[in-house]
Amino acid sequence: MTSFEVGDFVWAKMTGYPYWPAKVVEPDKDVKKPSKKVEMYFIRFYGTGDFAWTKADLIHKYDENKEKYSLGSKRSGFLDAVKSIEHAVERREKGLPDTSDEEEEESEPESEGSDDQPLAKKAKSEQGSSMETAATPPAKKRRKVAKKSLPTREELTLKHQNMAHYLLTRSQLLPTDPNQFISAVVSTDSTPTTEQRNLTTDSRLSPDTTADADSTTNIVPKDIIPTDKSIGFLGLGIMGVPMALNLVKAGHEVTVWNRSQARCTPLVEAGAKQGTSPADVVQHCDIIFSCVSDANAVRDLVIGNTGVLQGISAGKGYIEMSTVDSDTIKEISEAITMRGGRFLEAPVSGNKKSAEQGKLVILAAGDRSLYMDAYSCFEALGKKTFFLGELGSGGNTKLIVNMLMGSFMASLAEGLSLAEKAGVDQYTLLDVLNLSDIACPLVKTKGAAILEGHFPASFPLKHQQKDMRLSLQMGEELEQPLHVAGAANELYKRTKAIGFGDRDMSCVYRAVNA
Ligand code: NAP
Repeated sequence: MTSFEVGDFVWAKMTGYPYWPAKVVEPDKDVKKPSKKVEMYFIRFYGTGDFAWTKADLIHKYDENKEKYSLGSKRSGFLDAVKSIEHAVERREKGLPDTSDEEEEESEPESEGSDDQPLAKKAKSEQGSSMETAATPPAKKRRKVAKKSLPTREELTLKHQNMAHYLLTRSQLLPTDPNQFISAVVSTDSTPTTEQRNLTTDSRLSPDTTADADSTTNIVPKDIIPTDKSIGFLGLGIMGVPMALNLVKAGHEVTVWNRSQARCTPLVEAGAKQGTSPADVVQHCDIIFSCVSDANAVRDLVIGNTGVLQGISAGKGYIEMSTVDSDTIKEISEAITMRGGRFLEAPVSGNKKSAEQGKLVILAAGDRSLYMDAYSCFEALGKKTFFLGELGSGGNTKLIVNMLMGSFMASLAEGLSLAEKAGVDQYTLLDVLNLSDIACPLVKTKGAAILEGHFPASFPLKHQQKDMRLSLQMGEELEQPLHVAGAANELYKRTKAIGFGDRDMSCVYRAVNA
């Protein structure tokens, strides 16, 4: 078997994927080598900046195998990776250092394992999983600010095909003929989608298999008459970016602000203005939305230096979309209304994908006049907006939804882990679940994420744990026993403690399957 040295340019492969341009590198000190007795090397994959322990028999010298493997895929991610390694090879030939390490770390998307990651995100599969790679702990230094643009329509199509690819390769129903596969997918669903009808053989080459199942490329443009009120948007995280973009696309005049300014770029490119501070945005806008991580962030935005309170005045509306506890909501509501402002809470149910598609479920409560004034915004952001009456009912509804989701997610992780221990094929189990009475998008997408060892941060686990904590707190105050949620919360706490808070909630499998 060929042996390799740190620095060697190679092709490295994950099961079911084409060989990918990569380099043998030295693992960080905190990266454990898998206990398997086979020879393994630590590999960095070009194009993604990701790392994985890989078995030696799945690694080949780059130059010697260029012709053989460089046609492995036509996907842009693969082609970019080839370009990157070629650039690195050329630099080495000229005696220059390989700068792609830093460049790729810099250009990593907004959250680890974003949906657009090609092969190498899969390469971060778990130690102890059935795959032959081991995970790199999610070292902080590798997470960088978003620079990636939102997926194009074509990319979304590809991703949906990839999900179908997962179903194909794992269901064992129809191993070879893509047309047969199309009928299999359609048969599980009475109304076939266009994506299902359009599947092509190319989807088999695509390495990314964990797109959200409810994603669709058929986003029907909404017939929205945008309000003439100027709109502000504070907080451009996983949810905020697509939400603010949808406001712009629907024709609203939008001014954005984010603590890390780089995240404003896609919005400014789409036509939004950029404010210099929350106060600045509030001064220039009539209605201001906020969507930030947690209660501390919500308070910082409102009462911090150059915060919302510095700009609020009579008639202006502030809409809090972050998921936080009812005390925080009451506190900021009082602060804003005392200055003559109007306040609405409007947490959302959904995920990154539904935010991108303008298909969130919005749970509004508070000032009804503000709800009416902002209606065209809600139309742009969601598929359904509920007005739930008094302040607090929106947040409480949202927390109950997320408590159920978190408990179910933890249970799914346990089921899949138990299957592994019992020698039950996990892929078959997932197929069974997807055909059973508990089939739902969560089982489909998060189950796939677990089996692929690929945890794109659609809903960061740290936020899921926060929502479990807040719902338990609600149960405590109301003396409602919440045994199941309490147990699930322990798993989320553990997963966060071992360093996976920024990964998707499905990463709870890591704690369950430890
Ligand atoms: P995220 O990607 O972690 O983004 C968090 C945002 O909050 C970023 O813009 C961040 O700014 C900002 N932020 C954090 N601390 C701050 C502070 N002290 N001052 C000012 N800004 C601060 O979170 P997300 O997934 O978009 O979620 C946002 C909210 O929506 C959360 O309450 C979450 O529970 C809820 N939610 C999320 C989902 C989902 O699927 N992701 C679904 C429904 C509801 P920087 O960029 O500077 O860090």
